[in-house]
Amino acid sequence: MAGKILEVRGIKKDFISKGVKVHAVSDVSFDVMEGETVGIVGESGCGKTTLGRCILRAIPATGGSVTYYGTENKKYDVLWMNKKELKEIRKDLQMIFQNPYSSLDPRMTVLDIIKEPLKANHRGMSVKEMEEKVKKIAGKVGLDVSYLNRYPHAFSGGQRQRIGIARALILNPRLIVCDEAVSALDVSIQAQVINLLKDLQKEMHLTYLFISHDLSVVEHISDKVGVMYLGKMVEFGQTDGLFEHPLHPYTEALMSSVLVADPSVTRERIRLEGEIPNPSNIPEGCCFHTRCRYCKERCRQEVPEFKNMGGDHYVACHYAEELKLKGF
Ligand code: SF4
Repeated sequence: MAGKILEVRGIKKDFISKGVKVHAVSDVSFDVMEGETVGIVGESGCGKTTLGRCILRAIPATGGSVTYYGTENKKYDVLWMNKKELKEIRKDLQMIFQNPYSSLDPRMTVLDIIKEPLKANHRGMSVKEMEEKVKKIAGKVGLDVSYLNRYPHAFSGGQRQRIGIARALILNPRLIVCDEAVSALDVSIQAQVINLLKDLQKEMHLTYLFISHDLSVVEHISDKVGVMYLGKMVEFGQTDGLFEHPLHPYTEALMSSVLVADPSVTRERIRLEGEIPNPSNIPEGCCFHTRCRYCKERCRQEVPEFKNMGGDHYVACHYAEELKLKGF
């Protein structure tokens, strides 16, 4: 059985914006097992990208802990280790960025873009060895190796995202945070890139943290899903269980807005009233109570516990057992 690769506990990130404290991520905890894909979903601004960046220490977290289990089960305290120790695990933890247009340096050839992490991490490698490795990875992600001396502008969106994937893979990572990795692509290209990510996962034993606002994409690729609202994780569980029997009213509302490719299926669209509250002024009690159609007095006063409802299905709702919510 696969072991744990990542343990996220009580992670928090506050920003100061115009003198006001903004709670971008509040007290998020979950585990990721080796070889699985955990999807993180929520509306834009819910803190999912910030969470991914904090986990990789691309930005500093305000509190909490992230334990990375390296090979031979060696434990690393990612958030608070010193820079020298961090460098030791950098190659294991990589990221694929959202925008394939802005995440690649337009003045570098594709060969140099993919080679760059190798230059920084494998100083003993000859140029020839590096180029051989780049060609191998480029072939694996479906790029034509005869085009590697061209610049990113000569490539389509889908091909550019393949370049981003090749750059993330060049150091043989174990875990990749895919931050809206297919959101900027056309639907047909999205499917190709998702299938590529799945194939690479099998071949290279990768683990993904897949961040997306698109519930259908997350359902398709993930083994487990975490739903975020206003910087908090409100539901987390196995994909099948969570989609068939959501336990949080926010998850139910998100699912009701997904279009189904079957004209015989009709579904009540749950419209969330009002705006998402300002993250600098999170409502008292349940953070979702201002938009929840099941809200009761208790919800306005008491913060619901994020509790295990069985089968490692976690939810933060006082009435999760009583509400019979509609699944997907
Ligand atoms: Fe809705 Fe209350 Fe559950 Fe929050 S705790 S999701 S307000 S029913």
